[in-house]
Amino acid sequence: MSASVPPPTEFGARSDGQSVAPPVVLEHSRAPERMAADKVRCDACPVLCQISPGKLGACDRYGNVDGVLTRTDTVHLLKRPGSEAVEWKALQAGSWDGTLVDDAPVFVSGIGASTTYPDYKPAPFIIASRHQGVDLVTVVTEGIFSYCSFKVKIDTDRYLGPEQATVRHRGEAVGHVTTIEYGSQFLSLGGVHHLTGGSKKEGRIACELMMALGNQQAVDLQIEGGAALTLQAGRAPIVDGVEEQRMRVGCGSATVGIFAQQWHGHVDEVVVVDDHITGVLSEHQAGKCLDMPPTGICLRGRKSTPGRYFQVANPGGGWGGTDIEDPLSIIEGWDATRGARPGLRLLMVSTTGEDSAWFVLDEALVPQPAPMPAAVKRVVERIGENCEPSLASVLYVAGAGGSLRAGVTDNPVRLTRSIKELLVNVTCGGAPVYVWPGGGITVMVDVARMPAASFGSVPTPAIVSPIEFTMRLDDYRALGGHMSRVRRLEEVLAGSDYRVVDAPAGNPWPLRLPGAGTP
Ligand code: SF4
Repeated sequence: MSASVPPPTEFGARSDGQSVAPPVVLEHSRAPERMAADKVRCDACPVLCQISPGKLGACDRYGNVDGVLTRTDTVHLLKRPGSEAVEWKALQAGSWDGTLVDDAPVFVSGIGASTTYPDYKPAPFIIASRHQGVDLVTVVTEGIFSYCSFKVKIDTDRYLGPEQATVRHRGEAVGHVTTIEYGSQFLSLGGVHHLTGGSKKEGRIACELMMALGNQQAVDLQIEGGAALTLQAGRAPIVDGVEEQRMRVGCGSATVGIFAQQWHGHVDEVVVVDDHITGVLSEHQAGKCLDMPPTGICLRGRKSTPGRYFQVANPGGGWGGTDIEDPLSIIEGWDATRGARPGLRLLMVSTTGEDSAWFVLDEALVPQPAPMPAAVKRVVERIGENCEPSLASVLYVAGAGGSLRAGVTDNPVRLTRSIKELLVNVTCGGAPVYVWPGGGITVMVDVARMPAASFGSVPTPAIVSPIEFTMRLDDYRALGGHMSRVRRLEEVLAGSDYRVVDAPAGNPWPLRLPGAGTP
């Protein structure tokens, strides 16, 4: 079913009123003469598959259907939360009177949209729509990205492996361990080095891993000299076969600061064991503010500032991300001349509260295990209560500042500048992105905010992922956009070659421009 859509008069016209002829663009290069007549050639990526009748290309994204090169999936339209499907069903039914819908009920995403490759080709969908009465254009494509990677944040205080260690998937190097941030270990996975700089197998395995991560599937990884991991976006990480439960409440010093007042009066000393910064309450500024007397405790490791110790043990799978199973092993002794005395009450606890022990010093100043008082136990439980659930978060980083821009405009640097000037809303599958400062268009997006199965791949190898650029119609004209290729949203809806999916909940509506201040 299709409605007759009047040709848009303003598109294909210059701002000075002169009409311009559509650019002469050879969309497809000529197939080789020796190719069998019943084959079709796909030039959506540099592999240039020659596809036999009824077969798929090497990436399964295109097939030969009755002699026609056909995308196996179709473009995904995201339905605006709260919009009534009836709005666009009327359009589908062909009863559209030509009036533009003031608030577009759907957003044309790059998922299934096809690519701009070869790069002189305008983007497959350049769509005019309206949001709150404002005329917009969204340039929609699936980018083929060799320069892309995933940054994975793993909420855990467990030691996963040394910084810079190689991360392997099915035996191949696919990334490395990077920094630890507050309560989370970061990994960098994929990237052009692994896709193109190693063996063919390394590139293929890295690409498969990246696609699975982006599509929110579980992947198994092994860190050299470290842990075996199972990671899935938005799920608890599994470390050496054990599902992580809690993200630590803070480092040892922070934990002392948070709970000092609640311990006061119930303890003489607290040691919060942490691989990075172990806290000692009586020496810590928090203890000083509570007038806690010194206890003569002598801790292993390197003293930083009062009550804060580095390197009390080696990293590992024990208490607080250290390798210790016996917490007393980090105490060198007790100094009676500095406050140690029989009967002194000592709590040792980890930064998640998962490990804790209560001791009382005997006559020889040796800590003896004892039942933990209820008031102390309550605070230990509160540490656990304040820990957030441990999650693996997967962020996709991709460079869109190259030839992909030619699908948007004949003057690519203007797109880059317009994005930096916040005139353009960049989205990936309708999900909001962070655009890195500096040169290029380097975007970062949380894959959990993208629709399911947003990522594909081609065997070059490279990742295929959706990207959309939305801006005011006037701004698109000003940056040298392919105006003769602009189609109205209503025109797309009047056809049937699309799939409507719900926009993931919680995302800002992608037609909202930066700084527009509208929902
Ligand atoms: S790998 Fe896929 S996109 Fe590339 S040419 Fe073959 S079918 Fe087309």
